[in-house]
Amino acid sequence: MKNPVALEKLVERDKNHIWHPLTQHKTAHLPLGIVKAEGALVWDEDGKSYIDGIASWYTAMYGHCNPYIVKAMTQQMQKLDFVMFSGFTHAPAVELSEKLIKILPGNQAKIFFNDNGSTAIEAAIKMAIQYHHNKGEKRDTIIAFEDGFHGDTFGAMSASGISSYNGPFEDFLLKVIRVPVPTEENLKAVLGELDKILAENQCSAFVFEPLVQGAAGMKFHSTEGLDQMIAVCQKAGALCIADEIMTGFGKTGKNFASEDLTHAPDIICLSKALTAGMFPLSITSCSQTVFDAFLSDEVSKGFFHAHTYSAHPVGCAAALASIELLNSDEILERRAYIAHQHQRFTERIQSHPKVKNARSMGVIFALDLAVETNRYGSLRDKLYRSFMTQGVNLRPLGNTIYTLPPYVITDEQLQRIYSTIEGVLEVV
Ligand SMILES: *Cc1c(COP(=O)(O)O)cnc(C)c1O
Repeated sequence: MKNPVALEKLVERDKNHIWHPLTQHKTAHLPLGIVKAEGALVWDEDGKSYIDGIASWYTAMYGHCNPYIVKAMTQQMQKLDFVMFSGFTHAPAVELSEKLIKILPGNQAKIFFNDNGSTAIEAAIKMAIQYHHNKGEKRDTIIAFEDGFHGDTFGAMSASGISSYNGPFEDFLLKVIRVPVPTEENLKAVLGELDKILAENQCSAFVFEPLVQGAAGMKFHSTEGLDQMIAVCQKAGALCIADEIMTGFGKTGKNFASEDLTHAPDIICLSKALTAGMFPLSITSCSQTVFDAFLSDEVSKGFFHAHTYSAHPVGCAAALASIELLNSDEILERRAYIAHQHQRFTERIQSHPKVKNARSMGVIFALDLAVETNRYGSLRDKLYRSFMTQGVNLRPLGNTIYTLPPYVITDEQLQRIYSTIEGVLEVV
């Protein structure tokens, strides 16, 4: 006789022992059991398919189970599965460092490996603090944007400004001063505020999501304004940390959002699309100047920070294959095509009476509903359920509806995302 447990659906068995992230288990709806994925689609255990309209949190940009990346990872796994990265090195890490330095903006010179976005930020903040410490300075303050999101570990959480995540931990965080994102209207005031903060505090770093704040609701800000803020911070000796975990690898149009800046960041954090959703891996890259501040005859001036799975060869192999695809003719064509379709959709939808601020940048499209709602309010929930019923995975952020589809999404699937969004507008 078969084990009866095995006959129960995943969603039923899930209830027994699993604690889900970002979930209030008392009131949350049950999760979907997902059994298969390919291209821009995922299938649940009842056989229903969903278009992955946000590429599973901006990771699976080359499509789920992309055969080229799977093959590269499989070959790597059969040759060298894993070796610790202290005292050892290996080809996938070396090749990835070479490839990244070639495409990263400006002055990036060194690659430090971590295993997820939050820990990439954590390493960046620690690098910045120790950079000043090694130079004999104690700089205890970090500057960050209001409503930024940088992850859920303590340093990353400190830099994040979304209080529904931070509430219980507020008293235990690093010292962070928040400034509004720059717009054409407020830039002068923001620069004034920044000058004052830099003069009155010992600022080690300025942490920001360049051009687009993802978790805040795909909010865009002024490139020129950010550029000026970076210049002011760098002049005061604060290291500028670009969190490109969401924007990196083509989302905003260029390979990296920081390419649009004339003042290059000192440190860049990467994850998410780095490995195309196939493996947890992240990078904290930095300029030669940052790296050089850790060189000393004193051992303790080195960066004593590591994760067991640093530079995992299989993750590096996934990243190498992904970067090859990123700038292949086929994907470049798709990136441009989606950006163009988003622009056309933006023009069409922006005069809709229920829409305010329709916008697009690269493969990111977002609109705000003209009605207000809570981040976790009932309208948001209703929208999400409606999208899922129609077989489209879109997760509104408060009253912001957005899509960030995989580059390999088909024309028909992309049009279905647009028409589903338009349909939902009729019922809100
Ligand atoms: C997702 C994200 C993070 C955190 O990455 P995790 O891998 O979830 O820890 C940090 N910053 C930005 C901009 C992100 O989008």
